[in-house]
Amino acid sequence: MAKLYFRYGAMNSGKSTALLQAAYNYEERGQHVLLAKPTVDTKGAEKISSRLGVERMVDFLIGPDDDVRELVAAHAHPAVACLLVDEAQFLSPAQVEDLLRIAVGERIPVLAYGIRSDFQTRAFPGSARLLELAHSLEELKTICRCGRKAIFNARLVGGRFVFDGDQVAIDELSTERVTYESMCAECYLRESDGRLS
Ligand SMILES: [Zn+2]
Repeated sequence: MAKLYFRYGAMNSGKSTALLQAAYNYEERGQHVLLAKPTVDTKGAEKISSRLGVERMVDFLIGPDDDVRELVAAHAHPAVACLLVDEAQFLSPAQVEDLLRIAVGERIPVLAYGIRSDFQTRAFPGSARLLELAHSLEELKTICRCGRKAIFNARLVGGRFVFDGDQVAIDELSTERVTYESMCAECYLRESDGRLS
């Protein structure tokens, strides 16, 4: 039986690298894979970029109202051995439900990679549904500045921590650069003065 996998982690936990490696493993065996990502993520647009420098074009982008099953069906020749989705936190809950239907109904394994929670420690809608529905959950780990495992993503604007704002920061609208730092709970709570949302 094909399964829906959710591989999640804080930012900079190597999700895109793991995705590209998984795609390579299929292709090494002569199998055809599909790479996709939601359009919400503006950086990199139609590419999946790993921090190691490897990058690759997606086979299709998933718009906010797109039917993922239709998109997969339109790209189903040759037969699809695996569907890999990057930035899966930006999918809608309905699109995540379609990923489960693709795995179970179409018997295509679906590997979704994404961030579990936003800068206010709240689950992204797509991630919440993936945590509920995935057959298999796997955490990709990264390290906080203090050496502990990072589980949260703190937002910095112009180099200063901020704890208010939209779930998705549109960098181009701000005069100061928006960046993120993966942090453990202890360091996050220190920077936020104990705030969690
Ligand atoms: Zn820490």
